[in-house]
Amino acid sequence: MQTLILELTPARMILTRMLSRLNASVIFSPASPLRLLNIPDPPLPAAPWVRVRNRMCGICGSDLHQLSLDVSLDVAPAALPAHRRIYLGHEMVGEVVELGPEVQNVRLGDRVVRWGRADDCRARGRQTLCPACERGHRVLCEIASEPREYEPIGGGFGDSFITPASTLLKVPEALTDEQAIFAEPLAVAIHTAFRRPPRPGDKVLVLGVGTIGYLLIQVLRILQPACDITALTQFDWQAALAFKLGADHIFMVNDDGDAHVARLTQARVYRGRRGNTMLIGGFDVVFDVVGIPATLNKALRWTRSHGTVVLVGVNLHRMRVDLTPVWYQEVDLIGSIGHDTVLWQDEPISTFDLAMRWMAEERVLTDDLLTHRFPLAAYRNAFEIALDKNRHHVIKTAFTLN
Ligand SMILES: [Zn+2]
Ligand SMILES: [Zn+2]
Repeated sequence: MQTLILELTPARMILTRMLSRLNASVIFSPASPLRLLNIPDPPLPAAPWVRVRNRMCGICGSDLHQLSLDVSLDVAPAALPAHRRIYLGHEMVGEVVELGPEVQNVRLGDRVVRWGRADDCRARGRQTLCPACERGHRVLCEIASEPREYEPIGGGFGDSFITPASTLLKVPEALTDEQAIFAEPLAVAIHTAFRRPPRPGDKVLVLGVGTIGYLLIQVLRILQPACDITALTQFDWQAALAFKLGADHIFMVNDDGDAHVARLTQARVYRGRRGNTMLIGGFDVVFDVVGIPATLNKALRWTRSHGTVVLVGVNLHRMRVDLTPVWYQEVDLIGSIGHDTVLWQDEPISTFDLAMRWMAEERVLTDDLLTHRFPLAAYRNAFEIALDKNRHHVIKTAFTLN
């Protein structure tokens, strides 16, 4: 087995974090916790396990955060027990090449994506599920941080991995590998939209267009054809695609955002001292796909009273944020992580299955989103390019693995 790992010994972590402030390429140096590991194929440890040979795997923003060790040790998730060895790559599509004797949900040769974690209730074979697993929200499994019996080995950034079969979902024939690697981010975008589904006539802002932003625009349009979608983009090359995928209006990070919000929503702008501004009125819903203090502060001010901000951008640092709009305008601030099960046309369905269905029906388009591909051996180059979006016009970077 060949697979990329992050080996999180404290010394490597500290060294990399210190040096990466000076120069981002340090994360690829010998001192970095990132290594390409070559080991003999591990045997399947238990009857419900399988081996999957990878075909392709997308690089997610969260992989890049982990790679850069871009996390403060005083944020809530950092208090959970961590694995010393992290196998990167979850946006994978692969093929089942070995089956344990008790596997029922997949067969040899099936193309699969990974939708659960190897430590949730289903993967542990528990008869009674925790409340999160019960509602299909597997990333929030309440026992996931408890010690586990067997270790999953390998990830999407490698030639293969072993995992409990219950973490896999079969990919429909109609989907190409290039579409299948978007099943996970699209499942996330669908879950995010369902956190506060748009109502007819709603004015919605998607703040930030990377992969999730572009997918979210398309999902919002499916859920509510009669809503008005604005996208906030960082670079001009991102704007045309946002329009193509369903945005009605665009403005850019460097524009006067308050003026655009006032124009688009008839909000009133009040200017205080030292550049402080306040809007009365604004969007009904803002999806903060970036999740840094600058965007969250704006998101809260650009939302009308009784509107909602959905925070989906990943940021593993304490933030200095003005929360006054939460009480002063009764703005609801809610979060979104992972994927779950939703009610769509009276049918309970996993957002993963819904993602694959909508791609197969070409209701959600991903062709323009996959901008760069690399073989695994070129991983340094792949990460460097993925981290330098504007220069290379990157949306989604992926490894081609077979
Ligand atoms: Zn992802
Ligand atoms: Zn659970």
